[in-house]
Amino acid sequence: MAATHRISRPPAAVLRRAYDLMHQRFGHQGWWPGETPFEVCVGAILTQNTNWSNVERAIAHLRAADALDPQKLFSLPERRLAELIRPAGYFNVKARRLRSFLRVLVEQCDGDLARLFAGETAAARARLLATHGIGPETADSMLLYAGGHRSFVIDAYTQRIFHRHGWCGAESRRPKAEGRGSPGACEATYDELQTICQTALDHKPPAQRLDYWQDYHAQLVMVGKHFCRTRRALCDQCPLGPLLPPAGPNVARGPD
Ligand code: SF4
Repeated sequence: MAATHRISRPPAAVLRRAYDLMHQRFGHQGWWPGETPFEVCVGAILTQNTNWSNVERAIAHLRAADALDPQKLFSLPERRLAELIRPAGYFNVKARRLRSFLRVLVEQCDGDLARLFAGETAAARARLLATHGIGPETADSMLLYAGGHRSFVIDAYTQRIFHRHGWCGAESRRPKAEGRGSPGACEATYDELQTICQTALDHKPPAQRLDYWQDYHAQLVMVGKHFCRTRRALCDQCPLGPLLPPAGPNVARGPD
């Protein structure tokens, strides 16, 4: 059923100012999730429901096994692949998802990421979303950091920060099965939030916008990790403190 709610949008100037404040504090991140585009894609699947340090350990195992190559990784038996990525958690599920991705990459694109990411962003995104185990956040991470496509990534940090600042409507009362019912989540759907960001942050020339959106997401991750914590927001130390509503963050305070 189509959503009927209206989402309040923050002025574009607020989101642009947010970047300036984060960038002033943290500097340009240049942290992209992986040393090569293929690693970015593998990492985007492995990072589902776990933190990045666990992904790094799993990728180190793949590197030690000389398997960080589409054909080599696809040739591994699923059980062996699951063993190698065990540090990332949910390793059996993720091994299946990785193999689904690799099947598309190897069998349909001859192992060539350029072919996987070919064409307009919408077409490349649809190709990824049609693959088992790849949802919008995973697809957009691949597109933005490996595919050279301007496709803004929305993650749990983004949702929490936007919710606490009132940039994405009231807290959801939708069921958890839709993925938006947890404290700190937004009323806005993934696509709505992505549209808010992409519309507000389209002021840079196209040649600069890819790096800008990559870095914008990386800055939000820094804020989410270090200040905008799940149970306790450290607003008095956070670079986004000046952008809080007068009544303070939209958050239930509690122990961290
Ligand atoms: S910690 Fe406070 S100021 Fe920082 S992003 Fe979260 S709600 Fe905003």
